[in-house]
Amino acid sequence: MRSIAGEAVVDASRAAGPERVPVAGLPGEGLRIGVLAMQGAFAEHRRILERLGATVVEVRLPRDLVGLDGIVIPGGESTTIGKLLVAWDVLEPLRSAIAGGLPTWGTCAGAILMAREVADSLPGQPLLGVMDIAVRRNAFGRQVQSFETAIPVDGIEGDPFPAMFIRAPKIESVGPGADVVASLDDGTIVAARQGPWLATSFHPELTGDARFHAWFLTIARGARRT
Ligand code: GLN
Repeated sequence: MRSIAGEAVVDASRAAGPERVPVAGLPGEGLRIGVLAMQGAFAEHRRILERLGATVVEVRLPRDLVGLDGIVIPGGESTTIGKLLVAWDVLEPLRSAIAGGLPTWGTCAGAILMAREVADSLPGQPLLGVMDIAVRRNAFGRQVQSFETAIPVDGIEGDPFPAMFIRAPKIESVGPGADVVASLDDGTIVAARQGPWLATSFHPELTGDARFHAWFLTIARGARRT
């Protein structure tokens, strides 16, 4: 068992080993990617991004945002991450960096922080509110109802992607600026893209499949300002 936000969750003993990375080359080479490292599954993102050749910066202070080609906001507990963003004065600088076009990928709690509209948020919960999606927190039920399923993702070739859901949000709608990139069989939206921004309800960093990270690195490279 492993733990997110201090709670025991699904068995992720399959977690990424080098032998399981099914991507060619080093799509992160020469890229400087931040991983917001306040709380949650940031170490897992870091490991995969480094394996894909990126230089990874753990972001805890406003100055850590300087010179990034992209940033990942991990899963964990959005209320806690939000409080720490405020306490450490990172909320506003991060919001303006993202609004300025910084490629950003929010996974689970990270997707909640990115969303413009959040149902079932706590009163006053700090959010970034940049992406044109509406999400509902904890919409799949409790921790014990965590599940994994393979889903096709627009933008990722090959086999369906193993998607792990842990007290995940649903994406209830996407605005005109954003596109749905993955849904469950019942139509529930679980991943969206808006230009250089990605939001996923699930946790690609907890599987051995590095294709989602490789895709984000490709987006970050494409958005690079020279
Ligand atoms: N339920 C959590 C929240 O609201 C998200 C869970 C996760 O990131 N795995 O922040």
